[in-house]
Amino acid sequence: GATIGILGGGQLGRMLSVAAARLGLRTHIYEPGSNPPAADVANAVTTAAYDDTAALTAFAQSVDLVTYEFENIPTEALDVIEAITPIHPNRRALGTSQDRLVEKTFLQDIGLTVAPFADVTDAASLDAAVASVGTPAILKTRRFGYDGKGQSRLKTPEDAATALADMAGAPAVLEGFVNFSIEISIIAARNPQGEIACYDPGENIHRDGILHTTTVPAKLPPRLRTDAVLLAAKILNTLDYVGVMGVELFVTPQGLIVNEIAPRVHNSGHWTQNGCAVDQFEQHIRAIAGWPLGDGTRYADVVMENLIGDDVDAIPALAKEPNCAIHLYGKVETKAGRKMGHVNRVTR
Ligand code: ATP
Ligand code: MG
Ligand code: MG
Repeated sequence: GATIGILGGGQLGRMLSVAAARLGLRTHIYEPGSNPPAADVANAVTTAAYDDTAALTAFAQSVDLVTYEFENIPTEALDVIEAITPIHPNRRALGTSQDRLVEKTFLQDIGLTVAPFADVTDAASLDAAVASVGTPAILKTRRFGYDGKGQSRLKTPEDAATALADMAGAPAVLEGFVNFSIEISIIAARNPQGEIACYDPGENIHRDGILHTTTVPAKLPPRLRTDAVLLAAKILNTLDYVGVMGVELFVTPQGLIVNEIAPRVHNSGHWTQNGCAVDQFEQHIRAIAGWPLGDGTRYADVVMENLIGDDVDAIPALAKEPNCAIHLYGKVETKAGRKMGHVNRVTR
């Protein structure tokens, strides 16, 4: 069988490796850190930095294709790999999602609705951005933000100086604050043949900037469910995308607003492990390996809850709950804010 190279050895790489193994495929993880969660379950692991050209070359030569579990892979590393073996999802999808300004411009250009936004590089451009976008607003670094990091909220224009200082000189975008009723996400997949399959949208609740629960079904009128599927398919087709993507959406009285896209399996898609015949991890492997996709049908109502830091101490109690599927990542050390595992409570 083929060998799939995975950039990143965190929990997503681990769960992708398990899914690949179930399909009779091999995985090779590339990860700079020691003891990555994926190392326990992968067939091979390279421990090396992303600027180690020799290690990247050997890694790329040892696999049939490369995928990734996170967005912030340096361009130079991708160049080395792509000269040797294909990367899925493609470079355009990755580049688009790496930079919020490029991402929002792309989404707007293909006719989707995003929050009003403006480019910010300094005090003058922030003043102009506040004038056009208004307040309340959120200033976000263009690159490297996750779990709500690299963001600063402006209640009034007077908060501009503090917000700019929070960016520490990094290029940023100012986004108008969206008055949403709920947040949802849709997990969608596309294979090289152009087949698309979407999972049911899930409703997401965050705590301290980190995803806390995803509930399916989301409380969503059928019309908006259809809109979510259509807009996800439009994004995937336009990018000639191969793999699974997570699309985060705000639900408003005016319809769906796209918050951001992630060119990979997504935390809010973990419920599919116990709600669907083919989960998002198998779906991603199927897509990048050129297999037919699972259809995404949901067979159960599920509430996914992340176990962050000490939450994992509740495992003995959770293990006694009926219909509560436990997924632990095998992380060596428990730390505040670290994703240690999740549970899927199957409620119907
Ligand atoms: P992730 O971990 O999902 O990658 P992130 O750090 O990239 O998160 P965002 O998804 O942009 O950050 O924002 C985090 C959360 O902040 C959102 O899920 C939402 O709750 C809130 N938020 C972000 N942008 C806006 C906005 N324009 N209006 C209202 N709320 C927002
Ligand atoms: Mg993000
Ligand atoms: Mg987000």
